Amino acid sequence: MSGDVIKIKSLKVFAHHGVFEEEKQKGQNFYINANLYSDLAKAGRKDDYDLATSYAEVCETIIRSVTEVNYNLIEAVAEHVAEAILHEYPLVTGVDIEVSKPEAPIKATFHSVSVEIHREWKDAYIAFGSNMGDREGYIEDALDAIANHHLIELKEVSTKIETKPYGGVKQDDFLNGVCHIRTIMSAKELLEYLGKLELIAGREREVHWGPRTLDLDIILFGDEIISTKDLCVPHIDMNNRDFVLEPMCEIAPFVRHPITHKTMSDMLAELKNR
Ligand code: ADP
Ligand code: MG
Repeated sequence: MSGDVIKIKSLKVFAHHGVFEEEKQKGQNFYINANLYSDLAKAGRKDDYDLATSYAEVCETIIRSVTEVNYNLIEAVAEHVAEAILHEYPLVTGVDIEVSKPEAPIKATFHSVSVEIHREWKDAYIAFGSNMGDREGYIEDALDAIANHHLIELKEVSTKIETKPYGGVKQDDFLNGVCHIRTIMSAKELLEYLGKLELIAGREREVHWGPRTLDLDIILFGDEIISTKDLCVPHIDMNNRDFVLEPMCEIAPFVRHPITHKTMSDMLAELKNR
């Protein structure tokens, strides 16, 4: 991540993490390095403490999150610290967290062992659709689950629109829409989570483009471009889907497709002109 950064170096915290029983019992010192990405211009130009992220408070958050639970892995410690900071400090958009363990029980001479992770809030858009049973209910349950997930913030939901089925299979009309979220997860993790929600809604993957209780697709994930067997982002077919572009235009008309650089409004206009 580029831009302004607040740095905390080698914050010492005594805690009881580790795989070995002795580490859990005796405890040892851990050292935390944190980079907090945040626009510092406003606080700096006005010299106003109220516009700043208090590094004293951040240190308290780090100490609390390193000591409140005992983990096996320093990976888990780092994850927990990153989540706490991203949730508690609204100006911080991303973090690098390094957890090092200079007293690790290794029979060798070394300075320290450490892990470093980067986590940041990413804006993403998810399309939802249902054309079986209690369509509204399946969609609302999924939106509630999304809103309640600790790594996701639900920011906005479009109007749900009634649409004709797509792809040539004869079936009932759909209820479609999109939502805007912010998440600390990766796109791959988000896809896995959406798959779980589809399963909870009782979806069976039988007919491709056939009837479904719930379909959840990732439309955009920040500016990321992903092409793997299981995941294409931006959504590969979004330019052909008015049931995606209409609701996208309601909540994000100026957002641009990261490959074509067209706005959602441009894309909808092009689809309608075909
Ligand atoms: P569709 O959404 O096109 O009607 P499915 O919901 O049955 O079809 O999706 C089939 C597969 O598409 C999923 O198993 C998933 O791995 C893959 N996929 C690829 N890109 C995406 C994406 N951006 N969002 C959701 N699923 C995707
Ligand atoms: Mg899908």
